[in-house]
Amino acid sequence: MALTDVNYLLASGASIRDLPKISLHDHLDGGLRPQTIIELADGVGYELPETEPQALAGWFAERSDSGSLLEYLKTFEVTCAVMQTREGLVRCAREYVNDLVADGVIYGEVRWAPEQHLERGLSLDDAVHAVQEGIDEGVDDAAHLGRDIRVGQLLSAMRQGDRARDIAELAVRHRLDGVVGFDVAGPEDGFPASLMAGTFDYLALQYLPVTVHAGEAAGIDSIRSALFDGRALRLGHGVRIAEDMEVDSEDADTMYVTVGPVAQWVKDRRIALELSPTSNLQTGAIAAWGSEIEKHPFDLLYQLGFAVTVNTDNRLMSNTTLSRELSILADAFSYDVSDLEVFQQNAAAAAFLPLEDREELADQIAHGFDQGLDAGD
Ligand SMILES: [Zn+2]
Repeated sequence: MALTDVNYLLASGASIRDLPKISLHDHLDGGLRPQTIIELADGVGYELPETEPQALAGWFAERSDSGSLLEYLKTFEVTCAVMQTREGLVRCAREYVNDLVADGVIYGEVRWAPEQHLERGLSLDDAVHAVQEGIDEGVDDAAHLGRDIRVGQLLSAMRQGDRARDIAELAVRHRLDGVVGFDVAGPEDGFPASLMAGTFDYLALQYLPVTVHAGEAAGIDSIRSALFDGRALRLGHGVRIAEDMEVDSEDADTMYVTVGPVAQWVKDRRIALELSPTSNLQTGAIAAWGSEIEKHPFDLLYQLGFAVTVNTDNRLMSNTTLSRELSILADAFSYDVSDLEVFQQNAAAAAFLPLEDREELADQIAHGFDQGLDAGD
């Protein structure tokens, strides 16, 4: 199988792209279409490293694969540079929805950092309105195609910035017009959630759901702070929670594992892990286990009963889609359609939506997977 095959067929014959899916961890500035970047850059007079779509896509892929964090971060400078106007944000948000619909996603949470889009005079509120306008247009586009998708905004505060409280208040202000939660992104190492403790106290008093990037570039202490100081209901990646457990021995059907207190809590409380296989490889988040997808602790976490979800993180940089991430896992760990359904049901349960809406998503997934299986017979 070519890893870029979005029509990856499971043993049952079901195409992953046709199965209903949920995307919880997908950065708006990490998912732009190369052609869009070129047209928006032209409009604002920004000079790009490459001016042909394919060459530009290659430029992003190369930097993301380089193993250098600095090179990787340069790619976001480019995407953010063309997302400083209302038009740019509307278009990128609309295409985000269009692209997810094309990949079979029925519910998405799109995360982005409003503080990084103010260079050309937008206010924080203007930026949120612009993104919402694009989302609404994308949802309308889907309806015209007879497709159903729902999308919520997750507002990210940057760890290295000093606007966490502003972003938290912004999120609360827009919770009735499109914002479903709060996220913390940016350099994790050296910036534990505890540095924003006051902001998290405020969010807790407002009952706004929180996810925190933790357990990606730092280990258990960072996860502990996300849970304790951030009261995180989900962990952005969280893959390094596997550092809090040890496989003592293994035979044909049983694995004997000692699980530490942080991992036990995450497992027992169903704190969803927003795992992103390709991204986790590229950023070195799973370096302690190896440099191949087969070494990703995803399967260990799944087998132990953690609430694992599958995500794309940055579709442009990782040249991926949610279907592709699922096909990579299916290939590496021999998953079948029922495993993939568990990952979607885990995501439905962890969505930052009211209970009734999550139950509806769960029903949609169960129904769609049943149909997918029938189609494959
Ligand atoms: Zn992320």
